[in-house]
This record gives sequence, structure tokens and C-alpha cells, in this order.
Amino acid sequence: MIEVPKQDPCEICEGMAGRDPGWAVIDEGEYTLTVINPWQYEIGQCCVITRRHAETLFDLTREEAAEVIAAAQRVATALVRRYKPLGVLTFQNNGVYSGQEVPHYHFHVVPRQPGSDWGIGPPQLATFESAGRVRGTPHDPSGDEARRQRVRLTPEELHEIAASVREHLPD
Ligand SMILES: [Zn+2]
Repeated sequence: MIEVPKQDPCEICEGMAGRDPGWAVIDEGEYTLTVINPWQYEIGQCCVITRRHAETLFDLTREEAAEVIAAAQRVATALVRRYKPLGVLTFQNNGVYSGQEVPHYHFHVVPRQPGSDWGIGPPQLATFESAGRVRGTPHDPSGDEARRQRVRLTPEELHEIAASVREHLPD
């Protein structure tokens, strides 16, 4: 049984309702929005979310599921044009045990840059030898709190990044 995290109100629905000043939309579709992630572990990292409050992959309609991937491809193209990353990571968590924290479907799209000290996110990647850090360097969790502070940008900065990515979306 997959246990979905509890959150009331849902922070993604709150953002969509305009109650979060850092909320910045990069792209819009019929069923999805692509929004900047308030945690910028990598500059430009964003999420494709469903307009509807659907909790996990299992709750998506076929139309929503198809548009999520199409939107991810569009924004990944923009991120490559804008930031010239070495790679683009996409991932999505279903259930507390998989690392899901917000009970509203969101598909992460993350440009990976050389020298990145990303240590959280998909936890299995944090210790991969070739996860963008020096080969063989294990993840040191002692710096996580400082990193969380550092990657928390102001609403103005988040809006600037979103606007900059938006300019590079394909037609
Ligand atoms: Zn929601």
C-alpha cells in the first residue's frame, strides 16, 4: 500500500492559487503547468505539475500523463539552451517511502552542472559515483542544512530565473 504524504493545505494548490510570492510559471499546457522549484539546488530546476490536484502517478489521466512528458521535454530543451548543462535529470516520487513530500503530482526536471554538490533529491543518486560530483566522493550529510539555506532564493530571483528559461522554450 502506497502511503501518500499529508499536507493541508496542499502547497502546490496554494501556489497555483497565487498565495506564494515565489511561485513562477515557466510554461502552461491544457493539463499542466511548469513552475520553477523554490529550492534551486541547480539553477533552473523546475517541476511539471498537474493543474488538477492528483496525488501520484497512479492518479493521472492518460491525457495528463502524456502532457507531463511533453512539457518536461519542452522545458528540458529550454534549460539546455539557457544553461548548457552536462545532463538533465528527471525524476518523480510516489509515496512517502519513495521520498514524496508534497501530495500533488510533480515531475522534476533538473539541469546538472559540473561541480554540483547536490546531495539530496532522488536519494539513490546522491551516492552514485558519477552523479556530477568528483568520482568516488560519498555524500556528506553534515552540509545539508547550510545547502538548504543557500539554495533558497528570493521570490524576485525565482521570477527572474523562470523568465529567463521561458525565453528559451521551443515554439
Ligand atoms: Zn494540490
